[in-house]
Amino acid sequence: MPNIKQNFCPACGKNVSIDDTIGGVCIDCFIKNVDLIECRENDEIVVCKRCGAFYDAEWKNSVDEEDAVLRYVSSRIKTSNELDEQDIDLMAERMDSNRIRVNGILHGDLKGKIIEKTFSSIVHIKYTVCDSCSRISGGYYESILQIRADDRGLNNKEQTDVKKIVNDYVTRRYEDGDKRSFITKIDELDEGIDFYLGSKTVSKQICKAIKLKYGGEIQRSSKLVGVKDGKNLYRVTYSLRLFKISPGDVISFKERFIQIIKVAKDIEGIDLKSGKTVLLEGKKSNIDSIKIFGNIKKAVDTDLLSIGDKIIEVVDPYANKSVKILKPYFIDKIKDNRVRVIKTSTGLLAIPPEYYNISIKKI
Ligand SMILES: [Zn+2]
Ligand SMILES: [Zn+2]
Repeated sequence: MPNIKQNFCPACGKNVSIDDTIGGVCIDCFIKNVDLIECRENDEIVVCKRCGAFYDAEWKNSVDEEDAVLRYVSSRIKTSNELDEQDIDLMAERMDSNRIRVNGILHGDLKGKIIEKTFSSIVHIKYTVCDSCSRISGGYYESILQIRADDRGLNNKEQTDVKKIVNDYVTRRYEDGDKRSFITKIDELDEGIDFYLGSKTVSKQICKAIKLKYGGEIQRSSKLVGVKDGKNLYRVTYSLRLFKISPGDVISFKERFIQIIKVAKDIEGIDLKSGKTVLLEGKKSNIDSIKIFGNIKKAVDTDLLSIGDKIIEVVDPYANKSVKILKPYFIDKIKDNRVRVIKTSTGLLAIPPEYYNISIKKI
């Protein structure tokens, strides 16, 4: 095009300043010849009939079909780059069971001229089953999360808590868009619980989260289950073995008697002789040298007969005779001459009253 200063529109012939032309023509001619907005009059969306997810390059969760259609249409609309201050309003209108009309208004600014353009698209809904729903219904799983405890089964609180942690995590991740975050099956066994999960990553993260709260040791193992697109497919098992001790246990560790208060990544307790807090690193060598005498739930209330300088006399409820034991540091807290005791390898031990209910304390 020759570089001459033109002062009329070559398309309609009207006088126009060069600053008011776009692509060499006046704004009116530009609008006539160019689509400011491209939006298909008829479109098709694929929706999962089980979970409502829609397909747009990948499966995406939706609140409902109207939401799916609006987001789908919105991602496919193209507008002219010449238009400044663009703003698009979309509204969904249900036509029948498998058609939704989207009505839209485009607002914008074309060289100072305010533009408003309406458009609409009829979206046909096609139903199918998404990848993750078909995996779930096909019993698919990528990982097993095993929760066990050393030398014991899981207690009720651990079972309830673990199920809640897994369910909450899987649901949250799914709602955040991870379509592989699902539970195919839960097996409740005498020795623990197995969760069959759609995603290795989810399995691993839940395993770590439970360990952080309850302590224990994680083991990972994998099994070759097939080949897909030339790649080996592995099914991974994350196994968390909780420590044998739980809150409320009375234990001995390196010649100290300890009342366990909290079991998480580390173990917290009270030295029953000094009343001092004890923190044990939750590692295997420590756990292995722990001896458990029993849980506070098994402790028995008995009569306090006399209090001396260094010893007290109580009724041994197991032998039904009076015995002398070390005077506890919490002697001032004992009321009505009743004290709770537990049997250990070196005789009876008194339990501080503030920990009588430790086993049901929420951690
Ligand atoms: Zn013109
Ligand atoms: Zn689905």
